[in-house]
Amino acid sequence: MTEYIELRGARENNLKNVTLRIPKRGITIFTGVSGSGKSSIVFDTIASEAQRQLFENFSMFVRTFLPRYPQPDADAIENLSMAVLVDQKRLGGGSTSTVGTVTDIFTVLRLLFSRLGSPSAGYANAYSFNHADGRCPECNGLGRTMAFDTTGFVDPDRTLSEGAVQVPLFVGWENNVYSSSGFFDNDKKVRDFSDEEMQLLLHGSGRKFKLSIGDQTMNATYEGIVEKLTRSYIRRDLKTLGERTQKQVGKYLTTGPCPLCRGARLNQAALASRIAGRNIAELADTEIDELVAFLQELDRSGDAGEVAAPMIGTLLERLGHLVDIGLDYLTLSRETDTLSGGESQRVKMVKHLSSSLIDVMYVFDEPSVGLHPRDVHRLGELLRRLRDKGNTVLVVEHDPDVIAVADHVVDVGPRAGRAGGEIMYEGDHAGLLASDTLTGRFLNRPLPVKTDVRTPTGSLPVRDARTNNLQGVSVDIPTGVLTAITGIAGSGKSSLIHQEFLRAHPGAIVVDQSAVGVSVRSNPGTYTGVMDDIRKAYAKANKVDAGLFSFNSKGACETCKGLGVIYTDLAFLDGVRTQCETCLGRRFKDEVLTYLLHGANIDDVLEMTVDQALEHFPEKEIVRRLRAMSDVGLGYLTLGQPLSTLSGGECQRIKLAGELHKKGSVYVMDEPTTGLHMSDIEHLLAIMNRLVDAGNSVIVIEHNMDVVRQADWVIDMGPEGGHKGGRVMFEGPPALLAADEDSLTAPFLVTSHG
Ligand code: ADP
Ligand code: ADP
Ligand code: ZN
Ligand code: ZN
Repeated sequence: MTEYIELRGARENNLKNVTLRIPKRGITIFTGVSGSGKSSIVFDTIASEAQRQLFENFSMFVRTFLPRYPQPDADAIENLSMAVLVDQKRLGGGSTSTVGTVTDIFTVLRLLFSRLGSPSAGYANAYSFNHADGRCPECNGLGRTMAFDTTGFVDPDRTLSEGAVQVPLFVGWENNVYSSSGFFDNDKKVRDFSDEEMQLLLHGSGRKFKLSIGDQTMNATYEGIVEKLTRSYIRRDLKTLGERTQKQVGKYLTTGPCPLCRGARLNQAALASRIAGRNIAELADTEIDELVAFLQELDRSGDAGEVAAPMIGTLLERLGHLVDIGLDYLTLSRETDTLSGGESQRVKMVKHLSSSLIDVMYVFDEPSVGLHPRDVHRLGELLRRLRDKGNTVLVVEHDPDVIAVADHVVDVGPRAGRAGGEIMYEGDHAGLLASDTLTGRFLNRPLPVKTDVRTPTGSLPVRDARTNNLQGVSVDIPTGVLTAITGIAGSGKSSLIHQEFLRAHPGAIVVDQSAVGVSVRSNPGTYTGVMDDIRKAYAKANKVDAGLFSFNSKGACETCKGLGVIYTDLAFLDGVRTQCETCLGRRFKDEVLTYLLHGANIDDVLEMTVDQALEHFPEKEIVRRLRAMSDVGLGYLTLGQPLSTLSGGECQRIKLAGELHKKGSVYVMDEPTTGLHMSDIEHLLAIMNRLVDAGNSVIVIEHNMDVVRQADWVIDMGPEGGHKGGRVMFEGPPALLAADEDSLTAPFLVTSHG
């Protein structure tokens, strides 16, 4: 008998009293246009309630340390299991977090070395770069050492009293240490310093002197410029500094592999210890498919003996998961904060596949992101494996091949925002294909391969590119057309475009999915500038100052300063937010709300969706900016919705809206179809075509075959990932690629979905 998760009367965000039964221990996939309400059901209602119920089990004391989950707006949510979110948030953790450490595979490898390594360095910690017993003393386990580029810190044509020392990282008095030290002739040009003086200025240390600051004198210990900067910035993990400081410091740093461990991060005893001729750092630097081959060989040889055999078994099982999910091109030593969102999600998935938890509810957000269609079936396999261990799997997804894996499909719609929030279809995959919903119709209608491609107006060259796995790639990227960069994950698409191309052509504009506007006060209206025009129109019509119509300025409610809410800080607890009692959350002074334009006050305007505002305002400038947002498919957003609630895909599109009127630029986008339904993709293509028709060049890294089919030019990287990739396999129009029999991408251009 099938058990169900029961959801009744859900009303979070745009949901219209949604009632659903989701089969437990099955794979349920949520489809629908972006903004229709999928996340509102899966994340904001089901997963959020599961977290809250879990936390309810803890004592009041423990709960004070946990994030607070408010009860979702629903009549009933029953029969939940513990939820595990496998999302695309990057795995942070600084330089010492690697693929090997987060999957625990490196821990097992260390154990293996403590048993089998010869000579043995000791027990397992002696092989850990996160432990004092194992890490390299020179670089503290970072594998890199850094040095300051001192040109520019000292002006050789000045004397110390003329301010020859000008280190931007120093606060004022620190620059004066050198002239007040008494060790130098302050009236001698630095250019004329002897070698000893120069050495003392840059590297000297340990000498005592009397330092005067203003009228105070104190005993101080002298440090040369480089010595001081090194102590303050280099002997710590740079990633622990604030972002601004990091940036500032980064400008003067040159980095290279540590001279002692040569990047291996471990001390010499650990590095001397070997299994079958290889040390632990070499194995961690080996791409996973080859590491698997090495361990299989070790297993076969019988050298491992009884004690180590189970460890090898565990390693092979976990590494096998990485291979299965298409990450065989990574190495265990790869730092997790250099992984893409899709790669991070897949690494997290591997962690859970090794877990022995059962009856868990796994929740995925577009796991196909970053995966070439060739590898999507592997994802399906892993979702099935999670289910077959007795877990419930919920997936928000747009990829037809992933949707096909579903035991149960929930299609949300019909449209986005207020025009969405209803269940259009619920049932099996065959039924979805036969249904007359937007999803059903589009699954049966892939876009054709474009044949009337544009002629390039010129080209932007990349020559002899060698970043990461690129094997001396030389390629001309055409201008005045839409170019798609394709290839298996890890083949080198990002290395080519984000690193090499952008370095060679720094004027290109990257429209990515990173968050826009960190301030709680920004919203689509302020971000796109349309609120400025609206405020001016209000000011003109009412003959008052435009600042009155801003909750960031004169018009702000005085009690809440225009926030609409009052934050109360509580020790240990999350701050509490309560609605402002003066303005009742409307953010403005009462007086402001008495001024009308076309019958609405400014607060009414902030409550309008972009599409509603388009119908409301006749003013040309306002219409132009609103139209841009509507054109990128964001007509359903309200002007006042905080930007912090926008998804990555929505952030990318709102940035795009701001670019639509430019000419002669080069745009770079990375999987702009992320978060987009098949019907939204036509919309996105229309926007990209508009940009190109207006004289711009657009370069997209894409796995979505609808976009690739509709490009003017395709550059296919490959053939595989990692060191088996890094070459250009094809450049030309999509119709030619489709006919290329050797291409791994071609078969997916010609087959239809569903
Ligand atoms: P999907 O996952 O299908 O793309 P969402 O569930 O994220 O859709 O969004 C449904 C609607 O609710 C959209 O109009 C979205 O802008 C809105 N929305 C989502 N989160 C919030 C929020 N925190 N506050 C206000 N509106 C939101
Ligand atoms: P794609 O964009 O096609 O997925 P990438 O350009 O991201 O491919 O990766 C190409 C190769 O370079 C892969 O083997 C990947 O593991 C490696 N790589 C990418 N970024 C880094 C990095 N920051 N550090 C080390 N290796 C990297
Ligand atoms: Zn080192
Ligand atoms: Zn207020």
